[in-house]
Amino acid sequence: MSATDRKVNVLLDILISLRSFLKGMWVTATNLVAREKVTLQYPYEKPQVSPRYRGLFYLPFNEKEQRLNCTGCTLCEQACPTKVISMTKLGAGKHGGVSEFNMDLGRCMFCNLCIEACPFDAIYMGSAYELASYDRDASVFRIEDLAQGGKRSVEINIKTISEALAEEEKAKAAKAKAAAEAKSAADAKAASAAEERQAAEKPAASEPAPSASPESPA
Ligand code: SF4
Ligand code: SF4
Repeated sequence: MSATDRKVNVLLDILISLRSFLKGMWVTATNLVAREKVTLQYPYEKPQVSPRYRGLFYLPFNEKEQRLNCTGCTLCEQACPTKVISMTKLGAGKHGGVSEFNMDLGRCMFCNLCIEACPFDAIYMGSAYELASYDRDASVFRIEDLAQGGKRSVEINIKTISEALAEEEKAKAAKAKAAAEAKSAADAKAASAAEERQAAEKPAASEPAPSASPESPA
């Protein structure tokens, strides 16, 4: 190869390298300016999670009933495979609820089984996702942390349920009292009817039997 050819080859190499460099820079510049950004400067920028995101649990507060929907039926507790849920029931029956509801999310798999088991729409997963902590106890969420509206909702929930249970007890006592009164009135009526019957039978019994005629037939 002559010296001139070598110079031509070097020049060609430089031109090819320059073209590749400019091409790469063009791709970089296009992505920098025109392409939609997909990265976030977390934690300064927070992502918008999907509405179906499985984040921190919450217990909805029923504004109409002024209480949490949870009735303390324990179906979620029974459905949970890792024993995350524990609760303290408040009353029973149609006014029943909970005064305590604890979840140890350190054991939770976010499998959704507890939510599917709940027949009262009383437990959901929300969008809160920053749950990491260096403290093991921080994985335990109590009813105040889970209830929509926090501590105040829990207080209203307990007050509403306690009042409803007291009303129920009062109604039961009044019903029992009315039944007892009705029974004693019926007993008294039956006793007085029996007395009247005895009184009516007595004179007839004490009347002398009609005597035989002194005159004997001739
Ligand atoms: S999501 Fe699954 S593991 Fe977590 S509390 Fe519910 S049932 Fe238990
Ligand atoms: S959250 Fe639902 S399933 Fe669990 S105790 Fe309350 S009502 Fe029952």
